[in-house]
Order: sequence, then structure tokens, then C-alpha cells
Amino acid sequence: MDENNPCLVEKYEALLELRNAKSAPKTQVQAQMRLLSSMYPGALRELDRVSSAELTARLNACRSAVRSRAEEAVENYHQLWREALAYKSTRGERHRLEAKGPRSQALRARIDDGGNLNPWIFAHAGISAAMSAAELRHLMSGQACFEDFPARSTSLAGEAQSAGLCFDCEHCRTLQSAKGSVFRRCGRHDREPGFRKYPPLPVLLCAGFEGLAVE
Ligand code: SF4
Repeated sequence: MDENNPCLVEKYEALLELRNAKSAPKTQVQAQMRLLSSMYPGALRELDRVSSAELTARLNACRSAVRSRAEEAVENYHQLWREALAYKSTRGERHRLEAKGPRSQALRARIDDGGNLNPWIFAHAGISAAMSAAELRHLMSGQACFEDFPARSTSLAGEAQSAGLCFDCEHCRTLQSAKGSVFRRCGRHDREPGFRKYPPLPVLLCAGFEGLAVE
């Protein structure tokens, strides 16, 4: 595996090797697992829970020229965790790391606030692939397959990106004007006026966010 150039094909090859490495020396297996989880934080969850048939299907999907929504969301997930771990490891010198954009800034704010990072990362990793946090969670734990998220719907992905967290929040209410424009209203505002009724989109950081469950 090339540590400087993470790639999902190599990740799934390594996961399948580990799955089949029953007779390999324990120290070698442990070293491989450490390397894998440093390059692809969260990947060992797939090793524990995803079947070999599905790992092979994921490898084949990543080798194909067509990029699936599943691939995009899983890549985002690892990338966000890599960034989070790098930022956390800098401790008092965090200011030295430059945020790469609004999502990076929101991630750092979340870490600085001490909030639970896992739900935030699941939600944000899925946004550009129009995938809910719960769907991505299912994907990473083997309860959903890559083939469940094949085609990329440009309009849906665009909608998700422009809404940010509201896209996948159970408190979000959508309203449609007579001309077809869609507005998003925060339902939490009705009982907690501290939440803006019409928050500026995309919302990248919100203490009230609660992800939708998978139907
Ligand atoms: S609680 Fe936050 S994320 Fe949820 S709809 Fe309201 S503003 Fe959007």
C-alpha cells in the first residue's frame, strides 16, 4: 500500500488479504492492520463485519471506471477521519495546519468543541454522494452493499451539497413554491427559537442535527 496515495482498490485488496491470512504470523497481521487503519481510519469495521463476497464486490466496483456513490462516500469517510486524526495529533499547534475549506473549518470546530465526531463524519461523508448518515453507517457495517448505491443522481447530489447537514436532518422541513423552488426550514426553530427558521445553506455545523434513519 502506498501511504502517500490512499486508494480504495488497495484498501479492499488489503482487507481481503487479511481476511484470508489465517496462517500468517500474528505480528505480520497486526502490522498490516495498523497500517490499514492509519491509511483508512474505520476500515477495520469492514474487516469485522462485511462478508468476503461483499468485500470482493467492493473491490471490483472500485476497479471499474464508473465511480459509484458508495465509493465516493467511503472515500470521503476515510479522508475526513484522516484529517480529524491529523488535526487532533497536533494538540497545541493546531493553528499551524491550514483548513482546506468550509468543511475543514467545520470539522476543526467540531473537534475543538469536543462534540461526538462519529455522527458528524458519517453525515458529512455522505453529503456529496447524496447518502444519509444512516445509509453510510449501514454500508460500513455490511448491512448495505455497494451495489445499493451505484448511479449518481446529479440533481440529488447537488441538492445534498447545497443543503449540507439539513439534507439529512430529521428536523428539516422542505417547502416548495408555486414556481417549483425548494426551501428548507428548520423544524427545531418551532420549539427552540435559538435555531434559525431558515438557516443559511449549506449548514456545515449544527448542534441540533439528528440524522434520518434508513427506511
Ligand atoms: S437542526 Fe440544524 S441541521 Fe437540522 S434542520 Fe435545523 S438547522 Fe438544519
